[in-house]
Parts: sequence; C-alpha cells; structure tokens
Amino acid sequence: MSDPPPALIWFRQDLRLADNPALAAGTGRPVLPVYVLDDAPAGRWAPAGAARWWLHHSLAALGEALAACGAPLLLARGRAEIVIPALADAVGATEVLAGRLTEPWARERDARVAEALEAAGRSLRLHTSTLLREPPTVLSGSGKPYTVYGPFAKSMATRGEPEAPLPAPDRLRPAKDAPSGDRLEDWHLLPQPPVPDWAAEFGTIWTPGEAGAEARLGRFLAGPVRDYAVNRNLPGIEGSSGLSPHLRWGEVSPRQVWHAVREAIPGDVEAARPFLSEILWREFSYHLLWHRPEMPDVPLRERFAPFPWAPDAALLRAWQRGRTGYPIVDAGMRQLWRHGWMHNRVRMITASLLVKQLLQPWQEGSAWFWDTLVDADLASNSASWQWIAGSGTDASPYFRVFNPVLQGEKFDPKGAYVRRFVPELAALPDRWLHRPWEAPETVLAEAGLSLGRDYPRPVVLPEEGRRRALEAFATLRGRA
Ligand code: FAD
Repeated sequence: MSDPPPALIWFRQDLRLADNPALAAGTGRPVLPVYVLDDAPAGRWAPAGAARWWLHHSLAALGEALAACGAPLLLARGRAEIVIPALADAVGATEVLAGRLTEPWARERDARVAEALEAAGRSLRLHTSTLLREPPTVLSGSGKPYTVYGPFAKSMATRGEPEAPLPAPDRLRPAKDAPSGDRLEDWHLLPQPPVPDWAAEFGTIWTPGEAGAEARLGRFLAGPVRDYAVNRNLPGIEGSSGLSPHLRWGEVSPRQVWHAVREAIPGDVEAARPFLSEILWREFSYHLLWHRPEMPDVPLRERFAPFPWAPDAALLRAWQRGRTGYPIVDAGMRQLWRHGWMHNRVRMITASLLVKQLLQPWQEGSAWFWDTLVDADLASNSASWQWIAGSGTDASPYFRVFNPVLQGEKFDPKGAYVRRFVPELAALPDRWLHRPWEAPETVLAEAGLSLGRDYPRPVVLPEEGRRRALEAFATLRGRA
C-alpha cells in the first residue's frame, strides 16, 4: 500500500509534542515539522529581546524532541506565505496543520498563507491549541463578545470542563525529500557580542522547552498550588506557578495545566478556582485581542484618547532602570531585567506608578515589558496595561492609585523581595525599608546608606504623585 500524502506541521506558539492537536492530526501520515522565523508581518510586535532568548532555547528543545521521535524540525526564515507553500510543495504535503493564533498580524498572515496554499490545491487547517476555547465560540446570549471578565468566566464555566489533553506521539514518520533548513545559531536570537550578555542569569531561573515546562508544573503541583490563593501575592516567595513563559510559547497547553491542577487539588472545581481564574484571565485577554485587534496600540475606551500624558525621558529611564526611589518598584524592575520576568503583584505596582504618579503613556510601559519579558505576549501584556491605565474594557478605575509604599509593606512585609533585588537597602530595618526617605539620618548612617548617592530619593513623593494622577484624570470628566 502506498503512503498517504505527507502533512506539514507548522509550529508557532505550541512548541510541544503532547496535547498538540495539529501534530496529532498529522500522525499516521509522514510529517514535515517546520518553524518559520517571519518577523516582518508582526512589525514592532515581533518577539523581542528576552522572548527571543526563550525562543532560541525552546526551538533547540523542540528540535531534539522531534528528532528523537524520528521527524526532525526544519527551520526556515522568510515570509510564511512563500516559505510554507514552497516546503509543502517540496515534500508533496496536501495539508498544512497548525494551531490557531489570535494576534491580528498572525490572522492576516494565515489568510495569505491559506490563499497561497489553496491556489496550489493544498490547504491550511487550524486547530485549537493555545486556548481552551476559540474566541468566536464564546459569546454572550446576544451574540456579542464579553467585555467584562466576570460574565466571561461564568460563561466559560457553563461550557463544562475543557477536553482532556492528547498524548504525545511515540513515533513520527518523516516526510521524504525534505530540503535542508537553517541552523538555529544563524538566527542570532541570543544576545550577540559586543552587546553584553543581558540574559546571563536567565538560564539559572528558566529551562525553556516542554521538559522544562513539565518540571515547572510538577514543582508547582508538589507544593505552592495548595496555598496559591494567599501566597500568589507575595513576591518574596515562590507562591505562583512561574508557568507564564511556558504557556506563552505553548510548551504546555492551558488544557494540560487546567487538568493537572484539577487532579492535584481534591474537591470540586471551586477548590482550584483561585488558580483556574488566572488561566481564564489569560483566555479573556486573548479573546479581547481577537475582538479588539487595536488593543496593543490604542485605548479601548475612547474617552482616554485625549488623556494628558506628560512624556518625560528621564522619568521613563529611571523606571526602566529600577531607580525610582520606591524600593518595591525598583526591585520589580530589576527582577525584570535580571530574570526576564516579574511577579504579578509587582507588575501591577510598577505599571501603576508609571502611568499614574509618573503620567507616562501606558504604551511606553507595554513596549518595555515587550522587550524585557520572556513571557511577553501581545494579548496579556496589552490587556493588562490597559487594565492598569483604566482604559481597558474591564479596567481598574483610574482613580484607584496604588500606593507603592503601602503595597510594599503589605506584600513584602519582611522585605525578602526588596533585599534580594535592591541589595543597597539590605541593612535598613523593616520599618523603613519601603520608605527610606523617611528614615532618620542615624538609621540611614547605621545602614551605610546615603540617599541620593547609594540609592535615589523618590522621583515624585507619594501624595504629590497621587494628586497629579487625579488631576490628569479629572480632565476626562464628562467624556463618555
Ligand atoms: P500564575 O499566578 O501562576 O498564573 C498562572 C497563569 O495564568 C500564568 O502563567 C499566566 O499564563 C496566566 N495569568 C496569570 N495572571 C494573568 C493575568 N493577569 N492576565 C493574563 N494571564 C494571566 N502575562 C503574560 O503571560 N505575558 C505578559 O506579557 C504579561 N504582561 C503583563 C503586564 C502587566 C502590566 C501586568 C499587570 C500583568 C501582565 N501579565 C502578563 C500577567 C501576569 O502578571 C503574568 O501572567 C504572571 O505574573 C505570570 O506568573 P505566573 O506564571 O507565576 O502566574
């Protein structure tokens, strides 16, 4: 009997073998697994600095896993609508199988790829792979997209548990006549000399790839998951899963995480609700991006369009460098730089300071996070920045201004987090750690600290920052 025609498996944001519906749909046929580096259509939203570091290592891991299964990964660079049809043609693949993406640029590109394939009598088949459910299938009773998280989450709950994850294939049959691909090293995704290796510490924190994701999930299930509801807010301990970059690159699927957590926490779904709600926040962000493709760039609430931002390069730089004078903020920004990741509570505090007390446009913050986060994803990043700025469809009200001192004292009371990332403050007593400018001179001297020399004074004092933020917000009053 002759072989069925091969399938081209196009890996994008599902760099895994298990629970990969596109790969599963190709088993039984010879397959050509492919990853295409195609930055142009994404423009400024192509994977940036830290995410490229992750991508390099994740592709290396995927390549090894696929080779061990018998079908090596082919790396190609160029416009997908040219590269993918050409590769399908080279191996005689009738179908290209991939996970569906949400980013506006990716959807437009997929339409072009599908058209090019169809012109040659082939087809592109997209599978649900990065989400629990596809955006067009989760609409309100009146057929509209949800704009508020609560009703969205309720609606997801009425749809029942996500389907069980699919197993990884044992063996794959490689397509014949595959052309040779690029060498990963030649893509220069890692920091290149003479640029200093800003990612030097990433490897001590992260293990990109499917095995790394499995290990990280296992570590979470073995302990932190049980006290997640409380500990997730404490940046000084490992209270959350740390799965975000693995989910972002699809080294583990949301379905796998969902079911693993359900199994680890006995009882009904409510017992696991605090964690599962976060998976649904991720889902909600992707659904928002699907329905509001302008979300990364413009405020979702029009009334915020004329917001009186006060762009200031020096303030922005102080924030980026972790030199605002607010210890919890500076610790967060330095964690971001050193580890390519920041704790969720601290992301909220740092983002709030930037857009409220410092009056810098949220787009500047989102661009910096885009460049520095290993988990930078267009949906969660844009939705979260709009949420903080008050301009999202389901946003924290603009007048709710986080006080970075009180936030620090509440969520890092013993200063474990601040002392780790802002070591120059380590010797300050807890009482002054989050407000060093209020410490008596004798206390500062004992801690060996001279403010303005060893550590900055706050770029704006808390009350002054709050007043400025509220005044700026008041200019929008009366706008719909
Ligand atoms: P856990 O608490 O263990 O949560 C499990 C998973 O749920 C996470 O891995 C993540 O996939 C998802 N999740 C959790 N919180 C959120 C949330 N608020 N919104 C959407 N998904 C969530 N997350 C990203 O993955 N990429 C981003 O680019 C991103 N940018 C952000 C920018 C700002 C300003 C803020 C406030 C938040 C941002 N987040 C982003 C959301 C959140 O901070 C991270 O997902 C979380 O810190 C990751 O840590 P974790 O894996 O330990 O999360």
